[in-house]
Amino acid sequence: MRRGLVLLSCVVLALSGVVGVTPVSARTQPEPCPWVGSDAPVEERVGQVLTRMTLDEKLAMVHGSAGPFDYVGPVYAGLVPAIPRLCVPRLGLSDGPAGVGNGKTGVTQLPAPLALAAGWSRDLAAEYGDVLAAEVRGKGADVALTPSVDVFRDPRAGRGFETFGEDPYLIGELAAAEIEAVQNRGVLAQAKHLAAYTQETFRNTALGNAVVDERTLQEIYLAPFDAAVAAGVASVMCGYNYLNGVHACNNTYLLSQVLKGQFGFSGFTTSDWFAMHASHAAANAGLDMQMPGGCLFGPRLRAGVESGAVPATRLDDMVARILRQMFRHGLFDRPRTGSPDAVVTGPEHASVARRVAERGTVLLKNDDAVLPLTGTDSVAVIGQAAGAGVIGSGGGSAHVIAPSIVTPYDGIARRAAESGATVRFDDGRDRGRAARLAADSATAVVFVGKWSSESKDHGDIALSDADNKLIAEVAEANPRTVVVLNTGGPVTMPWVADVAGVLAAWYPGQEYGDAIAALLFGDVNPSGKLPVTFPADLGQVPASGADRFPGGRHSEGLAVGYRWYDQQGSDPLFPFGFGLSYSAFAYDGLRVSPPTADGAVTVTADVTNTGERAGAEVAQLYLSHPEPDGEPPRVLRGFDRLELAPGETGQARFVLDARAFSHWDTGSHRWVRSAGEYTLSVGGSSRDLPLTGTVSFADTVATSEPTPPPPPGAPSGGDDALTTLANLVTCPNEALFTGAVGAASVFGLSRPEQAETPPRDPDS
Ligand code: BGC
Repeated sequence: MRRGLVLLSCVVLALSGVVGVTPVSARTQPEPCPWVGSDAPVEERVGQVLTRMTLDEKLAMVHGSAGPFDYVGPVYAGLVPAIPRLCVPRLGLSDGPAGVGNGKTGVTQLPAPLALAAGWSRDLAAEYGDVLAAEVRGKGADVALTPSVDVFRDPRAGRGFETFGEDPYLIGELAAAEIEAVQNRGVLAQAKHLAAYTQETFRNTALGNAVVDERTLQEIYLAPFDAAVAAGVASVMCGYNYLNGVHACNNTYLLSQVLKGQFGFSGFTTSDWFAMHASHAAANAGLDMQMPGGCLFGPRLRAGVESGAVPATRLDDMVARILRQMFRHGLFDRPRTGSPDAVVTGPEHASVARRVAERGTVLLKNDDAVLPLTGTDSVAVIGQAAGAGVIGSGGGSAHVIAPSIVTPYDGIARRAAESGATVRFDDGRDRGRAARLAADSATAVVFVGKWSSESKDHGDIALSDADNKLIAEVAEANPRTVVVLNTGGPVTMPWVADVAGVLAAWYPGQEYGDAIAALLFGDVNPSGKLPVTFPADLGQVPASGADRFPGGRHSEGLAVGYRWYDQQGSDPLFPFGFGLSYSAFAYDGLRVSPPTADGAVTVTADVTNTGERAGAEVAQLYLSHPEPDGEPPRVLRGFDRLELAPGETGQARFVLDARAFSHWDTGSHRWVRSAGEYTLSVGGSSRDLPLTGTVSFADTVATSEPTPPPPPGAPSGGDDALTTLANLVTCPNEALFTGAVGAASVFGLSRPEQAETPPRDPDS
């Protein structure tokens, strides 16, 4: 990412003359390395290496090797060089959440994580993680900078497409499944960005300060990290944001008290790229690795250790945390086989991309069964987003370059040829011409897009004026008009009452055209459900006030996403969890088991496919707390995706443990399950819950240990003034980059190529 910043980096180099790389010890004679291939416990092997390391070698482990010229590291986004003397292999860190990024080619462009989330399937998340990890490893990297477990708090957020949506439970479940799959391949996953990183505006500056109360932080923004840690994630990246006045990468509460203390995380933390605002304070707060360069955790950390400002035991802990994960995932024990130039994509990976696109597309409207297109003899495919303007992947570090993208036109034309339907294309630039084509066709499908990227938030959630007019004019010409949204999140739909059908396809990756054709023609029955609420207008969103977004005050508290709409009693355009099918599903027979001794409850419900097609339904369980808990009306606590033949009944099953019934008690800094009656509601969306039951608990019980206090000597803010000055003098390039990341949020990044072979309009 950030090619535009290379120039700046040259200036920075000229100004600074500082190369932030700590030299590895010059001793070249290899020592015997008994920890390689050994059966000894990981902790013993970590100890064996650590006790032999010099200070230079320890410092070399805790930062990347990028010089001031490398905005992202050499070869990968980040690289920690090998220490041959001790047989420590190098560590390559590669983006990102939708496949191998960083400008690499020969990779699969998977649908955006938001599209995966719309599939509401742990199994699919595992398949996605498996493909991702296979390709990261095939490229010779060791750490996959994924998943983004940030909460899609506001539809204007530039990185919303990189998230799993607005609900912490859904995010945590999918992240856990993906992380396990990634790490089963011997690749270390890195969950990001700790925490409450909800916007791009002002990022990496003190103005990008998320003000969040403790309960909201724990229940909404930290819960997905808890799930990631429980799944065994090897590494966690701190975000660009400040949290309650302290930068996330030198934030003792986040890194030490919560992540390592409360969650018991034994892996390592990494700074987001140029997200360090301190040296000594960052180390003492719990940051273990600087990325991508190494001045603050090189010369500056050395000074800190030598002066005693950073305890030597802290540096040992940083190194041990990194080594531990390298041992755990076999990095010492297997030869590296991948290479940055390898072609790692192939038909199997492409078929996963296609399946995710099929399952993640959400059918939002289908009046008079305009879809599927079976029996339609002529289709007008309209809009640049159906051809050269297609968006397979969003921008920034999550951007992935496809070998080529099957455009919607290509996919539809191919599929229509099988059923003998005529397909004609119009790019929609001349709206009158497009409307005439629509009038002359049995059905019109209009494809529209909206570009989203890391680094820049949207000012609004509207499609372009031209696209809104195009849709309105086409719909007027042909009532059988279907709109397909190729966006990174929710948009407003002023024309929604006038069109017959709407599909949300998000950023669907390289197999988009075939996936959308299969859905439009009914070869695949839509089953996606919204992982994020579609508001009727921007005024309706929880953070609509400027003090909230981009001001950073998270004063909507727990009422994020659907929790807000439920609390306000307002009707969004399309609610969280909503999605239609070409079939229909009926719910019946709710059963709630009595709580087990440890407070777990099993809920089951019968779901019947009452339609005439095979299809899948995502049954959802929402919990309502007793009133004194002060929770929003309903919170998602379970989901189960069932594939059902016509007439078939399946059983949806949800297991809620004691923690699922708990709320965060700020007084005691722990999870507590209150005594009282809880309501369990089950159905097909957050606003369609035909089944309800209750369960009661007699006692109030603590369901976790409290957050531990800060470790001795941990900072409550950044470096002191003298250390800050020394950082600036020694590492001016890093300070400039840090500022540049913030400045880039004003302008945004340039829009990269979507594919090695650029997508084209049909007749060009
Ligand atoms: C992003 C991270 C990414 C890193 C490396 C940063 O700009 O915020 O998510 O992993 O760059 O490319």
